[in-house]
Amino acid sequence: MNDTIDFGVFIGRFQPLHIGHEHVITHALERVNRLIVLVGSANMARDPRNPFTYAERETMLRAAFRHEVAEGRLIIAPLDDHLYSDTAWVTQVQRTVRAIVLDHGNHHGFQSHGLSDFRVALAGYGKDASSYYLKLFPEWENLQIDSQYGTFSSSDVRQRYFQRIPDVAGSILSTGVAEFLRHFMLGDTFRALLEEAEFLAAYPAQWGKGPFVTADAVVVQSGHILLVERGRAPGKGLLALPGGFVNPAERIRDAAIRELREETSISDGKGQIPPAMLASFIEDSRSRVFDAPNRSLRGRIITHAFLFRLPERRKLFSVKGGDDAAHARWYRFGDLSPEMLFEDHWSIIEEMADL
Ligand code: NAD
Repeated sequence: MNDTIDFGVFIGRFQPLHIGHEHVITHALERVNRLIVLVGSANMARDPRNPFTYAERETMLRAAFRHEVAEGRLIIAPLDDHLYSDTAWVTQVQRTVRAIVLDHGNHHGFQSHGLSDFRVALAGYGKDASSYYLKLFPEWENLQIDSQYGTFSSSDVRQRYFQRIPDVAGSILSTGVAEFLRHFMLGDTFRALLEEAEFLAAYPAQWGKGPFVTADAVVVQSGHILLVERGRAPGKGLLALPGGFVNPAERIRDAAIRELREETSISDGKGQIPPAMLASFIEDSRSRVFDAPNRSLRGRIITHAFLFRLPERRKLFSVKGGDDAAHARWYRFGDLSPEMLFEDHWSIIEEMADL
């Protein structure tokens, strides 16, 4: 084994990048030949917790480390979330790192060196946070970076920023990031995120903090899935599974059927499909609880998803938008991408429809 660490790996969400992250990156770069920065939650629709796209966060990193990127010492890559499968997420990290190490380690040429020829270490700040990852990647060494900036976080930056009079936390952001935020707050996307943040801030006072129980319908037919476009906050304009809150006197399964009928008016040649017939399409062995604590910014919402497998047909059952959904429509699986979906609905579809 050689003395120097060939590749460091640093994983973060960087929503947004702040000088605490930059400190870790700078010091990691002193101890490794090349540092791979993996930008997590790359595939999500914007919301007040994940307001910036992967491309925007990559731009922030490039602005802060222009030379290191140009010299090929800092390599940036996206990482999608798989909320209900750490295995899928770990696999993706392993594959991404493997491809980068083999490509850069062999100077973009013939791959004469294999993965085991390189020393790889996981960079992190704070023993608690990174020990979680270290358990997921036992094959890598541990590169701990101490920081005097440990007291603040990206969520502080977001909290001060998403206000009627936005405050860009200039003292903990590098110039490029602060400039990006000042420019971003003038646009329509900022206004939409601010409205969403205000809606979410008011939510617990109106409805309580939960836990709430909801039901969602994953309805598939002939390579298509039935989704509704959300007509109002939160997530206005995003696609969602038909579903909603469970009434006090109903079973969760019945709530899924009721919401499906209300939101989509799903019909066959004889008119609206009655509840009992919809129930017969449910694959009970596939119903599942989805309970990631952060899955909704409204509060703790635990949902139960039911798989409705409709018969394969050349003509799909007809649907139209009902109550609070703007529009219900069948989507081909191949036309969907994660950032089109509300909250964790992409992850639910991935699990339930075996994507
Ligand atoms: P983050 O941006 O909050 O932090 C990134 C790193 O910076 C961490 O090591 C953190 O300890 C360090 N850091 C934070 N504040 C600091 C400060 N003030 N000073 C010095 N260092 C500081 O990102 P994160 O939440 O750790 O990101 C993890 C990513 O991995 C997320 O996108 C998450 O969704 C993803 N993830 C996904 C799965 C899955 O999909 N199954 C599983 C695990 C992680």
